[in-house]
Amino acid sequence: MGTRDNVKRLIRAAVIGSGPAGFYTAEHLLKQKDFDFEVDMFDRLPTPHGLVRSGVAPDHQKIKSVTKVYDKIASDPRFRFYGLVEFGKHVTLEDLKRHYHAVIFATGAQTDRKLGIPGEELIGNHTATEFVAWYNGHPDYRHLEFDLSREKAAVIGVGNVAIDVARILCRTVDELRETDIAEYALETLGKSRIRDVYLLGRRGPLQAAFTNPEVRELGKLTGAHPVTLPHEVAHDEFIIEAVETNKDQTAINKIEILRSYSDPKHHTKDKRLHIRFLVSPVEIIGDGEGRVAGLKLAKNELYRAEDGSVRSRPTGEFEVLEAGIVFRSIGYQGVPLPGVPFHEKWGVIENEKGRVTDPETGGHLRGLYAAGWIKRGPTGVIGTNKQDAGETVVCIVEDVRSGAVIDPPDPDRESVLKLVSGAQPDYLTYEDWLGIDRIEIERGKAHGRPRVKFTSVEEILEALKSGKKPAKSPDKT
Ligand code: NAP
Repeated sequence: MGTRDNVKRLIRAAVIGSGPAGFYTAEHLLKQKDFDFEVDMFDRLPTPHGLVRSGVAPDHQKIKSVTKVYDKIASDPRFRFYGLVEFGKHVTLEDLKRHYHAVIFATGAQTDRKLGIPGEELIGNHTATEFVAWYNGHPDYRHLEFDLSREKAAVIGVGNVAIDVARILCRTVDELRETDIAEYALETLGKSRIRDVYLLGRRGPLQAAFTNPEVRELGKLTGAHPVTLPHEVAHDEFIIEAVETNKDQTAINKIEILRSYSDPKHHTKDKRLHIRFLVSPVEIIGDGEGRVAGLKLAKNELYRAEDGSVRSRPTGEFEVLEAGIVFRSIGYQGVPLPGVPFHEKWGVIENEKGRVTDPETGGHLRGLYAAGWIKRGPTGVIGTNKQDAGETVVCIVEDVRSGAVIDPPDPDRESVLKLVSGAQPDYLTYEDWLGIDRIEIERGKAHGRPRVKFTSVEEILEALKSGKKPAKSPDKT
């Protein structure tokens, strides 16, 4: 603290959501030089880190190590974490406006987009988001059941999530055992009878949303080999344009990788991971007893639309693909938050560079901001959120300077503590989380695994109660 003249103005910020966007927002705020920010982060789950814990594939442990950065951010004494505290249930927007100058929504995209084709009600038709949350031990999804007793599975979409799902279905149990996949998922996948997994892209290989390292990794699986059909990865006019005219090296590499997968000499493993292009599911076919039996696929061709984008349209031909289980992986979708303007079609909070806007007037809603997927939609990698949060924080700082943030009647951090303790006495601090983290890693060591996750709120609260719980004061972080 300096003298009275150079004491910086204290600004209190509430961040809703503890995934990458929430942490990068906190980091940018805490780094500000002109104002002294205090950040309280709320999450409806007891554990922090959002999709890094419950979305990033368990066999991508290196990516998960980004949580060390988040631990460092959380170690700032001006940061507090309130886990198991749900916005709209335990704390409302009105509550937050009483205690904070700025409220930042970083809640991500918690559901998935719909296909809208017949047969979606059939047993065995799932969303990738559910499957991913299930194998990652998300408490809300642990009770789901996936029947892996049929030999063929289909994954609709060719983004990186679709690749994750297909890869996890193709991993051997020994490969999975080296990960932090939920124990129940390890058991179910260990008994899987799936032999053929089909990834289904509606456009061509050049337009596939997956990235090169992810598709390259498919060629290195122990028990499965990728397969492409030569005619589906052959040169089309768009590949020629991109690869030969523009000399786009990423595109050249992508096509080369996919072409190499059509060579039968590489088809040597037990399971097959088929990557198909130019097909759109138009119906999920049932077995007559309410279960998924396959997909009716419309064959497509590419064309350039008026806006210059390359799109697919049906040729009028169809094929039927047998599949005992189907996963839809066509993108995540944001969900509305109580009292916060939401753009239903885009699945995001209405905002301008992160400032939440009033749909009626187009003006900014004082002191309300968004960051990450709930701000811009479900695109980009973890690091993309750092820049995105930076843009939001620039707006916050500008608004603090111009007096356009909230003027909270009770900005005392102790008042928040009282509010939260009253509404959710079981709330968790970051220190509680670090305790849980240590126990999970310890449990993993016994089995040669990075960690064995707790997958229910009750288990977590129990573990904290059984003597390992640090004193309950967020100020101790
Ligand atoms: P995504 O990258 O947007 O991919 C969605 C896929 O669904 C695209 O192939 C899209 O095809 C397809 N699709 C959309 N609507 C469809 C329809 N009606 N019928 C058939 N196909 C349809 O989304 P995502 O895979 O969920 O990934 C979300 C973000 O997380 C991405 O930025 C991704 O890179 C990132 N992520 C990264 C990693 C990693 O770095 N390892 C892992 C997981 C996720 P069109 O292109 O034709 O629309």
